[in-house]
Amino acid sequence: MFDHPSYNAHEGVHMFQDAASGLRAIIAVHSTARGPAAGGCRMWNYGTGEAMLKDALRLSQGMSYKNAMADIPLGGGKSVIWGNARTDKSPELFRAFGRAVHSLQGQYTTAEDVGVSVADMAIVREETPYVAGLDQGDAASGDPSPVTAKGIYLGLLETAKRAFGNDDLTGRTVAVQGVGHVGGYLCDHLAGAGAKLVIADIDQAALEAVASRTGATIVEPDAIYDADADIFAPCALGAVVNEQTLERFRFKAIAGGANNQLVVPEMGELLRRKGILYAPDYVINGGGIINVAAEISGNYSRDWVDAKLVRLVETLGEVLDEALSTDTPTNEVADRIARERIAAAT
Ligand code: NAD
Repeated sequence: MFDHPSYNAHEGVHMFQDAASGLRAIIAVHSTARGPAAGGCRMWNYGTGEAMLKDALRLSQGMSYKNAMADIPLGGGKSVIWGNARTDKSPELFRAFGRAVHSLQGQYTTAEDVGVSVADMAIVREETPYVAGLDQGDAASGDPSPVTAKGIYLGLLETAKRAFGNDDLTGRTVAVQGVGHVGGYLCDHLAGAGAKLVIADIDQAALEAVASRTGATIVEPDAIYDADADIFAPCALGAVVNEQTLERFRFKAIAGGANNQLVVPEMGELLRRKGILYAPDYVINGGGIINVAAEISGNYSRDWVDAKLVRLVETLGEVLDEALSTDTPTNEVADRIARERIAAAT
């Protein structure tokens, strides 16, 4: 494991098995330099244990960087449960997972991620206090998506300022991929600011609901990459910026909420060469973890969340400015600042 390409000096990688419930889980703690590690729990039917380990390591390091850029007093960690989220869940499994989290004595706080719901986390809470993203309790922060979407909207305006010289969205077209929790709220902000919307999703009901509220034009899922739009806002899947899609892009900027938008980091340089200004995903989508951090502090404050969100958007502006003035890919600038912030706290 120490030679694994994604190992990246993790402080701890903990593996758990509970024969009675069938739990097989990894909790990866990348860094606690800035505070206890925090990051969601993903349940996924991995093909191999190697794929599971790689996912845990990459996601956990990503949380360190995201939390550092959001300037919240948290380190980075992530957990993964091996299994099918539709068929393998049971209260016993999440209780066993809760005991695993608890055994780390607060070094890591968990929350929902892909395949894991608020209801699952409520079961985890029966075994450990080190869980966030709950909808009940003193500091419960509930669904983070509206805060994530607000941060993306403000970050998109910051990106537009640099790509077009102003942040007036009247008459600009934004192509939004995925109109779920984050994408749906984002569309409301954008339509309110006068933007024209082109939207795609595989969920017809979600598409129709957003189109009727905002007047958006619906296109087929694959056609979103060819949309005649100024800005692309990926809010569904990772790896949507790749060599195949890049050839099709006519956008001038990318600013959306999906995690891991670049299939490989080198895509950042290819975007730069093509004149597309990319708002690094883990910076622009940090609103959700800010909301979760407020819950972890035990004293949720809307004002604190709003102030951190304003600062996050300023940080994004600083990343974009430095990248533009030094002809450097935006993701490289963001990675460097995140590493510096973690090193400074170590
Ligand atoms: P969600 O599941 O509510 O929405 C995702 C939407 O994408 C769904 O409507 C789904 O039907 C659609 N989709 C799936 N495959 C698609 C395809 N091929 N083409 C078009 N649409 C497709 O999830 P969400 O909470 O809105 O999160 C969206 C993205 O933002 C994810 O990548 C997530 O990791 C990231 N993110 C979310 C938050 C948050 O606060 N929810 C925070 C940070 C990052």
